[in-house]
Amino acid sequence: MATYYPLIPRDAPRRLSLVLPIYNEVEVLPLVIERLKLLLPTLSSETEIIFVNDGSSDRSLDLLIAQANSDPRFKVVALARNFGHQIAATAGLDCAIGDAVVLMDADLQDPPELVSQMIEKYCEGYDIVYARRTKREGESLFKRISAWAFYRLMRLLVDRDLPVDVGDYRLMSQVSLSALRGMGERHRFLRGMASWIGFATAYVEFVRPPRAAGETKYPFRKMFSLAWDAAVSFSPFPLRLAFLLGGLFTALGLLYGAYAVFRVMSGLYVVPGWTSGVVLICLTSGTTMACLGVFGEYLARLYDEAKARPLYTVYRTVNFLPPKDL
Ligand code: UDP
Ligand code: MG
Repeated sequence: MATYYPLIPRDAPRRLSLVLPIYNEVEVLPLVIERLKLLLPTLSSETEIIFVNDGSSDRSLDLLIAQANSDPRFKVVALARNFGHQIAATAGLDCAIGDAVVLMDADLQDPPELVSQMIEKYCEGYDIVYARRTKREGESLFKRISAWAFYRLMRLLVDRDLPVDVGDYRLMSQVSLSALRGMGERHRFLRGMASWIGFATAYVEFVRPPRAAGETKYPFRKMFSLAWDAAVSFSPFPLRLAFLLGGLFTALGLLYGAYAVFRVMSGLYVVPGWTSGVVLICLTSGTTMACLGVFGEYLARLYDEAKARPLYTVYRTVNFLPPKDL
């Protein structure tokens, strides 16, 4: 049953932070900056825009620093290398000082104008406001099908209540954000984490437009790795699957053994069991290896967490007050 949250209406956030992770977005950045500049005067909050450069290999950082130098509302955190979208987003959220903080993609697939609607929900008392896409435009059939499957699979593995068809575009209040900040795990799946912390949640709906320029930075490989991270860091299901497979084959082996004994005992002709022997060995060693692999995945994660390294390293910041500015 869904938790009940009495909603306490509140004023629009005095300070608002927009966080945008950037990886090789040089083509789209001028458009993004224009759109954001149009958005800013329509908001009643004092707004900071935090660009997190996720180790781009193009000249995105030059554009970002130039923008920040000409307008102090724009701030830059430059990570020391590419850490991936989820970590870059985390770095931005860590630096945000707003009473409400919005995370959005930097390719205009998350229309910035939606922020006003999110703030309305914030004012109604919601702590997390998701943007839910009702339709995707201009994305390949493969991307649409894989995204559809991704969200359903995540619901099965990560959390039954994981909202479907929402990406990382969301507003979070300062309280819910500090709850999220308490989760220091390295293999981050922000959507699952935002759902795990709870809090009163609302949705605003939008049609997801195609990328304004440039190409997706989430090829199938990264998408698969995000799904795997989500499944393995949130769910013991893959471990249980290993156990189930092991159990199944042990049972089969026992049955077959019993059958073999039965044949010998009842004096039936026993074929020198080469074929069945080989098949069984293959099957059992195969599943054993598969199970070991799954254990290995969890062990590797444990090892990663045990090292307790920082999640990211920062090379440079612009427009942050000391001590953040290096
Ligand atoms: N991104 C990032 N680091 C990465 C990959 C992507 O910061 O390693 C950023 C990217 O610049 C964009 C956002 O994450 O702002 C979402 O990426 P993209 O639009 O390529 O993903 P898609 O919308 O195709 O799923
Ligand atoms: Mg995109």
